[in-house]
Amino acid sequence: MNFKIAVLPGDGIGPEVMAEGTQVLSQVARLYGFSVELEQGIVGGASIDAHGKPLIDPVLSLAKHSDAVLLGAMGGPKWDGLDYSIRPERALLALRQELGLFANLRPVKLFSALASASTLKREVVEGTDLLVVRELTGGIYFGQPKGITKLADGTERGVNTEVYTTPEIERIAHVAFRAAQKRRKKVTSVDKANVLEVTELWRKVVSRIHKNEGYAGIELEHILVDNCAMQLIRNPRQFDVLVTTNMFGDILTDEASVLAGSMGMLPSASLGEAGMGSSDVRRIGLYEPIHGSAPDIAGKGVANPIGTILSAALMLRYSLRLEEAAVCIEKAVDETITNGARTADLGGKLSTRQMTDEIIKYL
Ligand code: NAD
Repeated sequence: MNFKIAVLPGDGIGPEVMAEGTQVLSQVARLYGFSVELEQGIVGGASIDAHGKPLIDPVLSLAKHSDAVLLGAMGGPKWDGLDYSIRPERALLALRQELGLFANLRPVKLFSALASASTLKREVVEGTDLLVVRELTGGIYFGQPKGITKLADGTERGVNTEVYTTPEIERIAHVAFRAAQKRRKKVTSVDKANVLEVTELWRKVVSRIHKNEGYAGIELEHILVDNCAMQLIRNPRQFDVLVTTNMFGDILTDEASVLAGSMGMLPSASLGEAGMGSSDVRRIGLYEPIHGSAPDIAGKGVANPIGTILSAALMLRYSLRLEEAAVCIEKAVDETITNGARTADLGGKLSTRQMTDEIIKYL
């Protein structure tokens, strides 16, 4: 078995954590008898510096013709002043859209040895094991009209549009219900249906899919996003699968990262239609830690590589269908943490490289 992986390190700590993620991946490949062909591409701010734009066609083509894409992070203060249309983060939005990756899966599972690393009380976070299914290619990050216009009186007007169509909601609802079937069989749909018509439609469509499409064995509840933000840190164990819009998912998963001890711990998988079915069509997916480029610690060698390493595990699971190899990585991370290894964000002293070396020992 030979797999072609597009490796896009990006900016800030992206290249630092990516070096560790690919190292673990190569070790696991050796252990499980498959090979990975890692082809690098530059994206984000690094691509702006080299080519004047955040994503160039050859890199997009590399991503499209790979079995999976492993991504670091993009952006940083250096490029903050640029027009939105050419900012580093645009590359990420374009990749997701061009690859049709509409479902972002963000598991938030607390390794029990880290219960005291969270700023929340141990008794609150202990046992946290939830999955956020975030819609990724619709909503306010893509809706038209958008932009900033000058008004006649000299002031300006900024606008973005939250928009969802029935098919977009249907397909993400299916992803959430199918995921719940393999977990604790509960879906919580997060919206703001008391104020926003677009999420009134969201609630209606999710309820219809639940009722009419054979998900009777799954419990469905609806919750307003403001209440959800509060419940997540009050009693996270009540949640199994959360399904929500692009922006709400973006915000809630950063909040949820606190439950897992640190932002540096959390992986994500972005999948398209083919990633969801049971046929053997190509299951391209994009895998990345949920954190950004962390300019405040970039270049210091102290970033936590676990979010990227666990993203590689998700890649093995969803795109390469190598479940045993995926579990191997997850168990190695668990044992490493259980045995006390900690980077600075978890209150320890290990460097990025030392943390990876520890994980590799347990593979
Ligand atoms: P961030 O996630 O980069 O950092 C937030 C905080 O978490 C910082 O204090 C950082 O040091 C810490 N942190 C993040 N990852 C860590 C890790 N692996 N180990 C230890 N600590 C870690 O968010 P930000 O500061 O709001 O954004 C910085 C830049 O990243 C911005 O340009 C933003 O647009 C971009 N960004 C990119 C992505 C992406 O590429 N997917 C996602 C979010 C933000």
